[in-house]
Amino acid sequence: MAKRVFIGREALEELCRCYPTPFHLYDEREIRSRARALNAAFSWNSGFKEYFAVKATPTPAIVRLLAEEGCGCDCATGVELMLAAACGVTGENIMLSSNDTPDDDYRLAARMGALINLDSADMVECLSRALGGALPETVCLRLNPGGSFEVPDNPAGRPAESKFGMTEEQIFESCRRLRAAGVEHFGLHSFLLSNAQGNGYYPALARLLFSRAVRMRDELGVAISFVDLSGGVGVAYREEDAEADIAVIGAGVRTAYEDILVPAGMGDVAIFAELGRWMCGPAGALVTRVIHKKETYRTFLGVDACAADLMRPALYDAYHHITVMGKEDAPRTHAYNVVGGLCENNDQFARDRILPETGVGDLLFIHDTGAHGHAMGYNYNGKLRSAELLVGEDGSVRLIRRAEKPGDYFATLDIDEDFTAALTRGNRQWK
Ligand SMILES: *Cc1c(COP(=O)(O)O)cnc(C)c1O
Repeated sequence: MAKRVFIGREALEELCRCYPTPFHLYDEREIRSRARALNAAFSWNSGFKEYFAVKATPTPAIVRLLAEEGCGCDCATGVELMLAAACGVTGENIMLSSNDTPDDDYRLAARMGALINLDSADMVECLSRALGGALPETVCLRLNPGGSFEVPDNPAGRPAESKFGMTEEQIFESCRRLRAAGVEHFGLHSFLLSNAQGNGYYPALARLLFSRAVRMRDELGVAISFVDLSGGVGVAYREEDAEADIAVIGAGVRTAYEDILVPAGMGDVAIFAELGRWMCGPAGALVTRVIHKKETYRTFLGVDACAADLMRPALYDAYHHITVMGKEDAPRTHAYNVVGGLCENNDQFARDRILPETGVGDLLFIHDTGAHGHAMGYNYNGKLRSAELLVGEDGSVRLIRRAEKPGDYFATLDIDEDFTAALTRGNRQWK
């Protein structure tokens, strides 16, 4: 499918006069329409809830607009819990799906009344210790079924190699101990494939979890309140990839529900999701300008963004489609390496990418950066993290996170008076 650019070149150039490149740009209409499509696809389940995976796009303006669409927050740390609460998301609208969890994060989650998802059997004791024995009424358990997990159109998942979740025996044992300690309701969670392509992942995972949920009810006599399908539904990063069809996915989960849970008398189990990538990935782009062109053994387009703004290509060799603004329909005739300025050779957004003829001054729209994009930013090489801007439903654009300034980079050195004084003197002198 042709990749969509959600802003025109003129409007983008206009924007760049106020907000220098690079920046991440998000499309409110796309985010809302995804949230609505997801809720519609699961409307057959009265308890359905999406807990947006905050780590994907931890920006309050985005979290708040998803909350307006009925989404809660899935958090992994105490800081993400604070962010969710400050966005007005409270109580059981927050899920703590963490691993290797410090006691303080459990305490904060419990104080907020958030749902807690336990990743390992020893966390039963940790939770109990952290909360002084006062366990919440509901606890979720994260299953790792081991072996391999196969879904058409995807490389086989290898749960047995993954650090997440507990074995089925550990789930049962944890469930017994939690119940003995007063926990009354249980959730069951698993996350087995990331960026899953096609529509088969959620239905296959649902079958696996539903059958385990029935077994837990039958063998332990416990009440299963919800099954959490977590994240993992993928995005069509390449033009030739097919977009996941969330309506088809919802219908596939429904069939599994009606095949397994309803006949077992468990037709009241709620379905939860913790999607991050699918909710926001295609609704964001990294906007960057070509500032240098260099020919050696390849032709390099040096842009003003770098891997510190978007780490996925450097980290996973991930593909992100690139549109040269204003040349959408020009023939793609030239091979370029599109690179950032980090002193690291893997700081390349694309290698041998076939684009229209492109030169210094051209604006590039790097697609699908709305999830796990800005969020993974870092400050290597003294690179400062970029701004984030949101295109509203009425077409107006607003700043939702300012770009970092040198002072942000130096802020944690406020304990070093000699350094901060020298920095202030230097800034005055070089001005
Ligand atoms: C990362 C993560 C998610 C979101 O994953 P996506 O691939 O962005 O959908 C959801 N739940 C947990 C526990 C995660 O770690």
